[in-house]
Amino acid sequence: MKIEYEDTFVKVAGLIGGPDYVRVARALLNNENATDEEIASATGLKIKTVRKALYDLFGRSLITGVRVRDPKRGWFVYRWKAQRDQTDGFIQTQRKKVLNRLKQRLDYEETHEFYHCGTPTCLTRTFEDAMENFFKCPTCGKALNRQDNAELKDSLRWKIKQLEEELVK
Ligand SMILES: [Zn+2]
Repeated sequence: MKIEYEDTFVKVAGLIGGPDYVRVARALLNNENATDEEIASATGLKIKTVRKALYDLFGRSLITGVRVRDPKRGWFVYRWKAQRDQTDGFIQTQRKKVLNRLKQRLDYEETHEFYHCGTPTCLTRTFEDAMENFFKCPTCGKALNRQDNAELKDSLRWKIKQLEEELVK
């Protein structure tokens, strides 16, 4: 088992569901084809919590579940296994979603003018909104001035470039 792979799987599980998911993910890597009950006893988590995490990870195709008969008790149980090859795909999909959101935001910033009165607690307004209010802040009454969003646009462009480079890797 490669360590860096294990880290990615556990990290992704943690991003989705927090510390409980991290424990479940680690238990899955330590014990391939474990059942709900085995994971519960390995993690010390309640069986309900373990199942919730497992079904969630299963729903996201990050683990597989095989239904097998428990030889001792006769009923069916699921044996769970981490789908480590799906982890990278999951991360790529998340990155693409973030990238799209950033691009939309940049597009919005590039195609709109923004106005602000200088009072930190007041809202930033679009040109249309500022015009409707005769360039006077409807909250505090001060004049609405054109806001320079060049810095924000620069940081958005920088972040987009970074994500695009990571996606190419
Ligand atoms: Zn104001």
